[in-house]
Amino acid sequence: MTAHRQPALFATDPELAALVSAEETLQAETLRLIPSENYVSAAVLEASGTVLQNKYSEGYPGRRYYEGQQNIDRVEALAIERAKGLFGVDHANVQPYSGSPANLAVYLAFAKPGDTVMGMALPMGGHLTHGWGVSATGSWFRGVQYGVSADTGLVDYDAVRALALAERPKIIFCGGTALPRTIDFEAFASIAEEAGSVLVADVAHIAGLIAGGAHPSPAGHVDVISTTTHKTLRGPRGAMLMCREEHAKAIDKAVFPGLQGGPHNQTTAGIAVALHEAAQPSFVSYAHAVVANAKALAAALLERGFDLVSGGTDNHLILIDLTGKDVPGKVAAKALDRAGIVVNYNTVPFDPRKPFDPSGIRIGTPSLTSRGLTVAHMPVVADWISRAVDAAAKADEAALAAIRSEVADLMAAFPAPGLPL
Ligand SMILES: *Cc1c(COP(=O)(O)O)cnc(C)c1O
Repeated sequence: MTAHRQPALFATDPELAALVSAEETLQAETLRLIPSENYVSAAVLEASGTVLQNKYSEGYPGRRYYEGQQNIDRVEALAIERAKGLFGVDHANVQPYSGSPANLAVYLAFAKPGDTVMGMALPMGGHLTHGWGVSATGSWFRGVQYGVSADTGLVDYDAVRALALAERPKIIFCGGTALPRTIDFEAFASIAEEAGSVLVADVAHIAGLIAGGAHPSPAGHVDVISTTTHKTLRGPRGAMLMCREEHAKAIDKAVFPGLQGGPHNQTTAGIAVALHEAAQPSFVSYAHAVVANAKALAAALLERGFDLVSGGTDNHLILIDLTGKDVPGKVAAKALDRAGIVVNYNTVPFDPRKPFDPSGIRIGTPSLTSRGLTVAHMPVVADWISRAVDAAAKADEAALAAIRSEVADLMAAFPAPGLPL
């Protein structure tokens, strides 16, 4: 039992402390392949759990509605300066509570209810908040959606242009949650310019790759960059909006007072630390290693007969279509979980199955790369996935248990940042 990592918590609430300990063990012993997850450093974890939590600071540095901001202003200013430096932008707002509220602030800044907005369809790899029907963004605004082409699995920029010119959306979102390929920000920029739309790059998944130079940057091409801070960027759960100076006022007003009250200062501190870490040469190596691992894992999966959407990956993410393996995505995901390999089931483009029971699984390499696994380990990982999917088809629980202990053995040699040894 490692509960004494949080001695005060253990003394006050042993029931909750035990759950935290159990989660530490689970994270340590399993192989996490969910592409939107990562391990924050011990430093980020410490910064995110400080007395900054006790402070209300509605407003922005130097213009607050509460007194006593001597330190808080400097924390937020540090986070802002680091974000501007790392991403090469004029303006950064580090207050959005998470990626979804950050995107809602963009709507508030640039559109009115009922206006047309355009994004990638959720089942094609887009995000809920890009105007999809079940999201507030799709019911308060008129969402029109683009996808990928059926034969290549790639965004068809001619089709995007045609839709944009026909619909003249107020806002166009590029980016998504299940896109294994590089986003062409310049192509989107020329489309948005022709259509007279505000262009938003939602780089929630790839922000760390951009910071580390392993994916082209949207800076200079788009009006607004929206990102979470907790995916490849390896910070606490939060978000940022970055933009050109001309949009700074609109973005700031939309976040506060438009949508939010007091910022979560302890999270702002964690974001500042993560941005500092992401500015180090070691983070450049990390970002490139994430992509090298994903490409090696994709190659090893293809060798084992897996069907990958778009045929592979350019980034941290791989979308596997399991139709040919005769195992639905959810069945495979649950079997992999029992084998100590954590993934999520996911729709694939043109999926004939339902979103809650789709044909694919989505995997990625940010977490295993944070633990130090290299391209040499990717055939092993592909083997485990292959064996687990076969075991799922045969309901072979013994095979899954055997994989689980092999996974735990390897993971023990690669401790995760921020977790107890
Ligand atoms: C993860 C993600 C979001 C939402 O972030 P939350 O913090 O979960 O609200 C928004 N957009 C994209 C593209 C994402 O991948």
